[in-house]
Amino acid sequence: MNRTVTLYDEDAYRRSFTATVLDCRPGRDDYEIILDQTVFFPQQGGQVSDRGRLGEAFISDVQISDGIIIHHADKPLEPGSKVEGEIDWQRRFELMQNHTGEHILSGIICHACGCRNVGFRLAEDNCTVDYDLPLTSQQLEEAERMANQVIWENREVLVSCPSEEQLKNLDYRSKKELEGKIRIVEIPGVDVCACCAPHLKHTGEAGLLKIISAEKHKNGVRLYILSGQRAFRALKESQEVTDQLVHELSTPREKLPQRVEALSLLAERLSRELSAVKVQLLVRQIADEPSDPVLFFCRDVLEKDIREVINGFLAEHPEKTCGGFCGSDEEGYRLVLASARHDMKKLAAALRERLGFQGGGSSQMIQGNIRAERSGIEETVRKLMNEEDNTL
Ligand SMILES: [Zn+2]
Repeated sequence: MNRTVTLYDEDAYRRSFTATVLDCRPGRDDYEIILDQTVFFPQQGGQVSDRGRLGEAFISDVQISDGIIIHHADKPLEPGSKVEGEIDWQRRFELMQNHTGEHILSGIICHACGCRNVGFRLAEDNCTVDYDLPLTSQQLEEAERMANQVIWENREVLVSCPSEEQLKNLDYRSKKELEGKIRIVEIPGVDVCACCAPHLKHTGEAGLLKIISAEKHKNGVRLYILSGQRAFRALKESQEVTDQLVHELSTPREKLPQRVEALSLLAERLSRELSAVKVQLLVRQIADEPSDPVLFFCRDVLEKDIREVINGFLAEHPEKTCGGFCGSDEEGYRLVLASARHDMKKLAAALRERLGFQGGGSSQMIQGNIRAERSGIEETVRKLMNEEDNTL
């Protein structure tokens, strides 16, 4: 079978076309349709495929294998028939905005920072690009500023397929050694790169480019970038969040960071104070407790304060065992258990086995987490202590 004629190579702005159905066979849970020509860009070079319709059939995915493009459809088409096709243009244009945006940014970064672009992924809702060297936030800020400058200068994007001879004299970026016909996408003064995907005619159509985040990737960096409509949507979402915070906290936008910091300091101070008050109550509550072990349950008490209560109690009653549990039946408990008389490590092992205790400690004190109900915990701990008493 001949290679599918790629109409998107000739005109990235073509949305509809007529083609002849060469083959239609059942796929895993769809139909695989091969045409003589198509405007559907298949998944390749890190970019997701186009979507759209062929006649009455919805095309959800498009793949390419040995130059033959396979359209995954929800309905079969008659081989030999003519079919009208149309891609989801809104989505394709957004992909073009993000792909051209990435070329602009990568051209600038690779040139200015001497690194190489080693990875690219243009997915449904995000676009990532990897470079082989770490980049500072100043370098990224400057590259982002320059990329937007290039966008607003509305430079023409040139696409060509140079001969082998011409390619030899051309300095261009390429993620891997390419064979066969090489398509070059050039943004004059910024970037020359081998690429098979549809691109904007002019940089201005990308509108805006924003680096959303940067993370360490292998020896270099991975950037998350948004261009065009995606950048606009992200700005809108971020404004909605800010507006909500301005309203909830009755604080002007520019003072939000200080306000949140003050609130978090206040919450920290209150929780310390609340914990201290609860500690005083706990100390009184267990002071004359006749049972052994003495177990107490509480909420919102800091672990260091629980340890303090237990140490204070054991200093007065060295012959006893004391345990504090902070939490609830639903969320589980954070526990501290101590005794000078019993081996707490042995108790930890038994609790691990019976109640799924997670944690550790010394033979005098253990701490960790337990996901069980209060009644079950109390019963089990008392039973284990009695068993051990009887074996002594
Ligand atoms: Zn590309």
